[in-house]
Amino acid sequence: MKQLALSMLRTPSRVAGAGVGVRSLATKAGGTTKLFINGEFVESQASEWIDVRNPATQEVVTRVPRSTQKELDEAAHSAELAFKSWRRTSILTRQRKMLDLQHAIRGNMDRLAHSIVAEQGKVLGDARGDVLRGLQVVESMAGITEYLLGHKLEVSADMDTYTVREPLGVVAGICPFNFPAMIPLWMFPVALATGNTCLLKPSERDPGAAMMLAELCRDVGIPDGVLNVVHGSHETVDFLTGDPRVRAVSFVGGDKAGKHIYERATSHGKRCQANLGAKNHAVVLADADRDHAINAIVGAAFGAAGQRCMALSVAVFVGEAGDWIPEIVERARRLRVDGGLEEGADLGPMISPQALQRASELIQSAADEGATVLLDGRGVQVPKYPNGNFLGPTVIDGATSAMQCYQQEIFGPVLTCVRVASLDEALALVNSNRYGNGASVFTQSGSSARRFQSEVEAGQVGINVPIPVPLPMFSFTGNKGSFLGDTNFYGRAGVSFYTQLKTVTSHWRRQAGVAEGAAVHMPTHT
Ligand code: NAD
Repeated sequence: MKQLALSMLRTPSRVAGAGVGVRSLATKAGGTTKLFINGEFVESQASEWIDVRNPATQEVVTRVPRSTQKELDEAAHSAELAFKSWRRTSILTRQRKMLDLQHAIRGNMDRLAHSIVAEQGKVLGDARGDVLRGLQVVESMAGITEYLLGHKLEVSADMDTYTVREPLGVVAGICPFNFPAMIPLWMFPVALATGNTCLLKPSERDPGAAMMLAELCRDVGIPDGVLNVVHGSHETVDFLTGDPRVRAVSFVGGDKAGKHIYERATSHGKRCQANLGAKNHAVVLADADRDHAINAIVGAAFGAAGQRCMALSVAVFVGEAGDWIPEIVERARRLRVDGGLEEGADLGPMISPQALQRASELIQSAADEGATVLLDGRGVQVPKYPNGNFLGPTVIDGATSAMQCYQQEIFGPVLTCVRVASLDEALALVNSNRYGNGASVFTQSGSSARRFQSEVEAGQVGINVPIPVPLPMFSFTGNKGSFLGDTNFYGRAGVSFYTQLKTVTSHWRRQAGVAEGAAVHMPTHT
């Protein structure tokens, strides 16, 4: 039955337009994006809709509803009801669902990746990476039996204490635009595998991949109501962070929304984990492998048009390493800016004209404040896509920490270069930055690398590695201004976030019936 559902998924008769490049029931091309409530894709009764535009062409791909309060209430009700039985489902069944889901996602990789290109703009290979990095979280959840193992100890004669990890109930996930598959997959598979039910809100700018994932959940037999997808922006977020049925909120996105969501969710008594913005530094020492360091920086600064929370947006050149900047400019210049489906494209458009405008203004501010724009991507020509939100790779040299281009998260293909005299100065710069998502060092000196690793105040450290996002046997460990909360996404931390630890102490006396009298002192079990 399951096999049938999966193979049918790939045929147009089962899911309208499920082939590569064609949209599914959940989001029809030029049509509307449905809600996914209680196992069904339903048309919203919303009076307000948000256009999703292809960032390379401005064509309207779909329209996303601002869910009505009634729809949100129905979704929460469905998740609340489903929790009663889903939490009782055996762990082996939930593990099996994760295995089935990973198989389904793998089989629909191209379809998901094409949806990401159409709505988010990234190039096809990178869109596959977006799906793959999320898929790895699903794969890790096939090991949920191991993650949920507890402890047990005989603490006194005939008395045992053991731990049980229990699901919380209904949890919510609120997603950003830049990883339309990976970030939903950081959230709901961990929530579901641990026995929770979930209300997922994809970004209103690119919900297509999340809808396909919901469809795959339905087709592998994840019960109705266990995953629901709702849409909208602020009002939907305020519902998810305020409704008493929601026990925990996972958020990934920008600082403004994140602070609001963290404060609102926690003030309503919910757990909250919130990954926010970033300004990731690469410190380059003159003893580094020159070619490797330059390629790593160029790839990590301009890949995904710089719209990654772990993009390297600041390169700090120590001493003579500054002489490598012209080569960085040359390699950046050679990158091909084009539509995401074009052969050989290295970077696609930015998400919106507003994002392009903001990045362009920050480039201008760098020039106005005294930095040198060595490579200026503004006005880049992409003949086949004259209406796209394209910004070519941009390299700013001679920046200081006081400049806007350094202070602000640009979230575009812009590399800000700072020159310093020593590793001490580089560390002081990185550590004084308000963000702490990631930082990398490029060097061939073990002692410099070790010193960097132990003194740098960033949550994810790369040593000769440009984007050190940990695989899901670890957790995503941003810190400082890049994270609010205390329990990170995915891995063991993710399992902790979505579960409540219970300790049970049981006493099964061998000599039942022997009267002992009431003990009024604190039991010490000795
Ligand atoms: P965003 O904050 O604009 O939107 C994220 C989500 O919050 C969306 O679902 C949106 O509907 C909602 N939202 C936006 N403004 C809101 C408000 N004022 N009140 C309530 N809800 C609101 O973020 P984005 O532009 O979609 O994503 C880019 C940002 O996400 C960047 O800052 C990037 O660094 C960050 N990000 C961080 C990580 C990480 O792991 N640290 C990962 C990916 C993206």
